[in-house]
This record gives sequence, structure tokens and C-alpha cells, in this order.
Amino acid sequence: LARAERAVGILLVGLLLGWLGGGCANLAAPAEAEMYQVSTLQAIVEGVYDGVIPVGELRRHGDFGIGTFHGLDGELVMVDGFLAQVKGDGAVVVPLDTMTTPLACVTWFAPGRTVPVPAGMNLAGFTAWLDGELGNLNLPYAVRVRGDFRRVKTRSVPAQRKPYPRLAEVTATQAVFELAATRGDIVGFRLPGYFGGINLPGYHLHYLNDAHTQGGHLLDVETGDGVVVEIQALRRLSLILPEGGDFATAELSGDKSAELRKAEQ
Ligand SMILES: [Zn+2]
Repeated sequence: LARAERAVGILLVGLLLGWLGGGCANLAAPAEAEMYQVSTLQAIVEGVYDGVIPVGELRRHGDFGIGTFHGLDGELVMVDGFLAQVKGDGAVVVPLDTMTTPLACVTWFAPGRTVPVPAGMNLAGFTAWLDGELGNLNLPYAVRVRGDFRRVKTRSVPAQRKPYPRLAEVTATQAVFELAATRGDIVGFRLPGYFGGINLPGYHLHYLNDAHTQGGHLLDVETGDGVVVEIQALRRLSLILPEGGDFATAELSGDKSAELRKAEQ
């Protein structure tokens, strides 16, 4: 696959977010919960869809997360170490470890808090409510919402061929799936605004049902009874960037927030 064509450049940012506000003592603290990110969402907006690392390597950095696959071949969801590929037609398959990812965010999920979620909330209501529960919105969080949902609306995208179109062109033709009375996990991240150059500030969530037959990038939801959200604050970031390929020449300095939100929400 594409991996053989390219050396992978590894930039370990090792950004100790706590250091900024808490003093140097944090540098000596034991391993903080780490968010491990492959490439940047802004590169995906620009159509940089070539895989950067194999998903087998991704598994070494977490058991929980979201992303996509080489050529934008569907949505990646990882829950409890189970890695799913939600294809463009909605089919859920287990990808080979040799498949590569051009964009992913994973962590070893170890939630510090579990909070009951009110029933009957849509995605906008849920995220506003969860912001209030989180309190400190200047840290990134991994969140897992478990239970019964009255309704889940997801999307996925079909694999693209070179020359790759921009993300907005792909999502304009995305397949949307409306799931009713479904039980499963919403997994993803809530990122502070200062992540805006490398990712999407706010919530980015994917869904996988318990039967591992349905899922995708979450567009909307209606929570049912007995839903809980598990929350993990993250204080360390590793960012793995492509060494070359399309990434080398992509225009990544401009503000892509409007195009990004349109494509992801
Ligand atoms: Zn997504």
C-alpha cells in the first residue's frame, strides 16, 4: 500500500498542556492521558487522503478513537479496542491491520467520570449540556456515550481516487443513515478552540452500534433512557505528520474553519 512509498515523519509534540498553567513539576509526572493524532483535519479538508501509518500501528497508541482510511474509504471507529470501518455504503467491516489511515485520533480510554445523560436530547442539546458538565473547556476530552438511542443519524463517505477532490466535494455526496432505536457507543473528542489549526474545535463524534453492524460520523442523535457519558481529560498530545506526498505542498496555513464545519456537521 501507500506506506511503502513514503517514509513516515514522526513529530512528537509531547505538548504537556498542564505545563502551560501548572508549572514545570508536571514534566516529571507519570504518563498523562495522551491524545495521539495522525495528520491534521485541515490536510483532509485540502484532499490529503493518502494513508500515513497502518491501523495496526494506531492500535499501539490507543483502544478508543475516530478517524478515516486511506483514500477517505469510510469512517473509523474504535471502541474497547474493536476497530471498525464504516464503508461508504454503510457496511461495517473490520479492516486489516495493514490498511493505513490519513487521519485519526486515539487514546487509551480510562474515564475519570461517568455522568447520566438526560433523555430526549438532540446533538446540539447534548453537546451544550456536556460543555456545562465538563467545566474546564481548555482541556481536550475523550468522551464515550453509551446506551440506548431513540435515533442516530450518521454519514459515511466512499473511497476516493486520485486526483483527490477536496473534502467539501466528497461530503456533498455523502450517504446519510437514519438509525432508529439503536444501542451502542458514541465515541470521540471535544477539543478547545486553540486546536483550530490542526483539528476541529468542539465535538467530533462517531457512532458504532453494539452489534457492530451500523455506525459512522455522527450528525445527530436523540438520547434515550439510561444513557451515560464517560469522560476523560487529556493532557498530552502526540501529533504524527506525513513526511511528504500531498501534505508537502498542501496549503495548510489559511483559516478553514467554515469549510471544515460544513463538511463535518
Ligand atoms: Zn468524523
